[in-house]
Amino acid sequence: MTRRYGSWAGNPNGVPEDSTRCIESVSDQGGFLFHQCLRKRGYGPDGLYCKQHAKKHDRKRDGSEE
Ligand SMILES: [Zn+2]
Repeated sequence: MTRRYGSWAGNPNGVPEDSTRCIESVSDQGGFLFHQCLRKRGYGPDGLYCKQHAKKHDRKRDGSEE
């Protein structure tokens, strides 16, 4: 599966995933469009996230409930 970002009615194909970067979608100004996080991946599940977003997806580690 290829991830895509920023797809909308005027650009239905969006922007393909950059496989060197964090896969998190980050909302643009106004929260209308989403684009891929620009930080380097290498953290979190399967190393697909940047350090910052890895924390968000790594909630089980500390033993707390979701
Ligand atoms: Zn990120």
